[in-house]
Amino acid sequence: MDFDYIIVGAGSAGCVLANRLSADPKNKVLLLEAGPEDKNFWIHIPLGYGKNLTNKAVNWCFDSVPEKNANNKTDYLARGKVLGGSSSLNGMVYMRGQHADYDMWAQMGCRGWSYQDVLPYFRKAENNSAARTSITGQAGRCRSATCATSRRSWTRS
Ligand SMILES: Cc1cc2nc3c(=O)[nH]c(=O)nc-3n(C[C@H](O)[C@H](O)[C@H](O)COP(=O)(O)OP(=O)(O)OC[C@H]3O[C@@H](n4cnc5c(N)ncnc54)[C@H](O)[C@@H]3O)c2cc1C
Repeated sequence: MDFDYIIVGAGSAGCVLANRLSADPKNKVLLLEAGPEDKNFWIHIPLGYGKNLTNKAVNWCFDSVPEKNANNKTDYLARGKVLGGSSSLNGMVYMRGQHADYDMWAQMGCRGWSYQDVLPYFRKAENNSAARTSITGQAGRCRSATCATSRRSWTRS
């Protein structure tokens, strides 16, 4: 069988890419995933990821190489091995990167990556049910809600 696109890894990026490419019926898209379907009970429970942090059925359970600058310590690195990839295990926190980081990349020569350049793409992806502001998207595929408690403690007045 022939394909126009073969995507390796059905994680956050792979699934978005497959969805966008296959929206055009002319494209034949193959999405390959090393892990199983996302049927694990704890994937569908908010913050259930604690239960899958060391579950090799859905998690690669990597260890880092020994870190020379940390007294050769190794670190445990959870990574999703399941449909949805690490987004099937993650802590459900959504936040944009810092304005200053994007602007610094643009200043260093990375054209098209200033905060003003990437803002339309954040907005396009977002579907925030609570924050109806001119810089927040409401029609995208990435659903989020503003947490009232966090807003009180993190917003500067
Ligand atoms: C425990 C945990 C908590 C997190 N919490 C948050 C959070 O709260 N907020 C946040 O923004 N981010 C969080 N993250 C990070 C976020 O989930 C990841 O940055 C993001 O999902 C990475 O997307 P990706 O597409 O690059 O990779 P992944 O989503 O990891 O996808 C990679 C996919 O490729 C597959 N794959 C790898 N090799 C092969 C192969 N050879 N053949 C076939 N398939 C292969 C993997 O199995 C996996 O499904 C968390 C991550 C973890 C692990």
